[in-house]
Amino acid sequence: MQIPGFKTIEEIERHFGVEISGEEKKKLKKVIEKHPMFIPDYYASLINWSDPNDPVKQIIFPSLDELDLSGSYDTSGEKENTVLTGLQHKYRETVLLLVTNRCAGYCRHCFRKRMVGIPTNETVKLFDRAVEYIKEHPEITNVLISGGDPLVLPTDVIEYFLSELSKIEHLKFIRFGSRVPVFYPMRIYEDSKLLEVFSRYSRPERRVYLVTHFNHPREVTPEARRAVDSLIRSGVPVSNQTVLLKGVNDDPDVLATLMKEITSAGVIPYYVFQCRPVKRVKTHFQVPLKRGYEIVEGAKQRLDGHAKRFRYIMSHKTGKIEIVGIIGNEIYLKYHQAKNPKKVGKLFKRLLTPDAGWFDDLKPVEERAVAV
Ligand code: SF4
Repeated sequence: MQIPGFKTIEEIERHFGVEISGEEKKKLKKVIEKHPMFIPDYYASLINWSDPNDPVKQIIFPSLDELDLSGSYDTSGEKENTVLTGLQHKYRETVLLLVTNRCAGYCRHCFRKRMVGIPTNETVKLFDRAVEYIKEHPEITNVLISGGDPLVLPTDVIEYFLSELSKIEHLKFIRFGSRVPVFYPMRIYEDSKLLEVFSRYSRPERRVYLVTHFNHPREVTPEARRAVDSLIRSGVPVSNQTVLLKGVNDDPDVLATLMKEITSAGVIPYYVFQCRPVKRVKTHFQVPLKRGYEIVEGAKQRLDGHAKRFRYIMSHKTGKIEIVGIIGNEIYLKYHQAKNPKKVGKLFKRLLTPDAGWFDDLKPVEERAVAV
């Protein structure tokens, strides 16, 4: 499907009267050669282009900081969890399908930066083989269809996914991971066929969910609300994963407002993710854990229980690690989900340094010497 938008720095300059120096433009082009830019025209209209620090702009417009190569392109161990091309099986009950490398817009902080918008051999080649795998594994109760963004695919393809997966009795629910409600919400509410497909397959006995990705209150527009409303009316509950991002939402007021706005739109706050140490992302977007905890708890102080149902999580190679609390220089963590199921629910602590931004930066707490 064609989404109208901007692919080059020159288009942005022309359309929004933005002036970028020749030297900077040259470097930004280098960034885009590696990781493409695409800004849907609707989303570009949410940006105040005269503000160099506009938070919505940080999400989608490339930055010279992306020339910094510290970090990794696979921070969650996706390679080692791939059981078939495009099919990952990390947690016993859940499989993840990467069905496309395209998105409605390219987030500069994407943790799958290694593959979105560029040629990749990481997406599903044989969907039917993936379905066979799920059939052969009765412990799998749910599928997450992701990418890239599955909602940029034609509605017929989405219908095919749902028709094949719905034949598997042991699947209890199916999720789509999509940023289309944020980047191009009209793709949802203007496609009556898509909404009809969702209504047909999202049934009391097997629900279809959509997990979206709002990061800033300004993204919760009347159009985005309408897309969410159309999904809910088609029987598709919508939940939200936010990434905590420096310069975007690293402020308790902003984060609290975001949670209030999405809750008012009918979106369930699900996770606040610590920004992963992704190459070309980490240095300019990651907030230290200590500060992140203060921001998240500060936001929670401003929220009622319904709007703070989210957990603050590091999606690590070993599992989803919840940041439970900080006392002094110790951080308390808990496996919310784990590759090794025995670890689920395990509470433990690590030494926290002021600039630690990821689980691997934390040192074990030394056992105290016991006086005899
Ligand atoms: S929409 Fe999702 S997959 Fe696509 S670039 Fe943004 S974060 Fe990455």
